[in-house]
Amino acid sequence: MATHIRESFLPFALPDIDQREVNAVSEVVASGWLTTGAKTVEFERRFAERIGVKHAIAVNSATAAMHLALEAIGVRTDDEVITSTFTFAATAEVVRYFNAKPVLVDIQPDTFNLDPTLVETAITPRTKAIIPVHVAGQSADLDAIQTIADKYGLNVIDDAAHALPTQYKGHTIGTISDLTAFSFYATKTLATGEGGMITTNNDEWADRCRIMRLHGISKDAWKRYSSEGSWQYDIIAPGFKYNLTDMASALGLVQLDKLDTMMARRRDIAHTYDMAFSNHPALEKPICTEYSDHAYHLYILKLKLDALTIDRATFIQTLRNRNIGVSVHWIPLHMHPYYVQTYDYRPEDYPIASDIGMRVISLPIYSKMVDMDIEDVISAVLDIAYQHAQ
Ligand SMILES: *Cc1c(COP(=O)(O)O)cnc(C)c1O
Repeated sequence: MATHIRESFLPFALPDIDQREVNAVSEVVASGWLTTGAKTVEFERRFAERIGVKHAIAVNSATAAMHLALEAIGVRTDDEVITSTFTFAATAEVVRYFNAKPVLVDIQPDTFNLDPTLVETAITPRTKAIIPVHVAGQSADLDAIQTIADKYGLNVIDDAAHALPTQYKGHTIGTISDLTAFSFYATKTLATGEGGMITTNNDEWADRCRIMRLHGISKDAWKRYSSEGSWQYDIIAPGFKYNLTDMASALGLVQLDKLDTMMARRRDIAHTYDMAFSNHPALEKPICTEYSDHAYHLYILKLKLDALTIDRATFIQTLRNRNIGVSVHWIPLHMHPYYVQTYDYRPEDYPIASDIGMRVISLPIYSKMVDMDIEDVISAVLDIAYQHAQ
């Protein structure tokens, strides 16, 4: 078979930036007000409106958002927080910031999301919260998780780094759980380079997050250099430096306007991939549950390695040789040296994630991809799968 090889490398991810973002950021830079200010207030207001939630608090990452959310609910040393082993470093490290313990549980093999039936067995008298991760942009089963949380008096904080915009049973992620953390990292579905948002309907938690994101200073600390501001301020707690810049917020406001068109394009790409990969015995496409839609931040393909003569690393290298950028989400947390050494987690404790983590690959899926890019990905994946079929 004569194989066509792309001339140029197709990046795994690219933000959807055009002249509108460039203009919006330029205006902020030219205005002279670079850090948190009116643009950030506007971004928070528009984000809250879009999600349909009372409070949106802008911060400089989802990691900061989760840290502040855990601080707001009062996590302390030696508390336990349950989350999925199949997630990014950030979800568990924020628990360690308190000297608390991230208790990892296994996932569902089809959605890659936290398995609610395993959550209850992980609960102890020290458990304080549960952090479901909406992997790839498909919601975890939040009703099942909330039922357990209610039974034991736990808080639920969503890691929604992938889930903008996602609906669970018709409700928007960001309005459902106690607090929700979104990411605007460069590769995410709304990108500001670095950035994040906390959403909640709870006034007290919102206040606490607002205060702690900027040095624990009691009121609107960012205003102290503006005409409305006061030189006087009270430090009420040793806070953090997690505020978002107006440059990032200006970018975010434009991205928010484009959210639905960017989303529609990712859905098209996912649909095209689904059709192309549905018939090969070595390829398992992602599933869609009836309770959630899918933001398709990621398109995760499962390889059936026993139907192939090559391993995953070779599969990925061969795709790269064909100029297709790919990635792996994720190597489960329980397989990383820090978590193995600190908590003695073992692969056999997480049979599903240990298996899935060995055979997933993430394909490029972003709105800047043109039709030819999509065809190149499909033909590369299929060529490799057919050439190395067992
Ligand atoms: C990207 C990501 C984060 C971290 O987001 P930052 O904004 O970079 O802090 C957290 N959790 C998951 C699942 C992510 O993919």
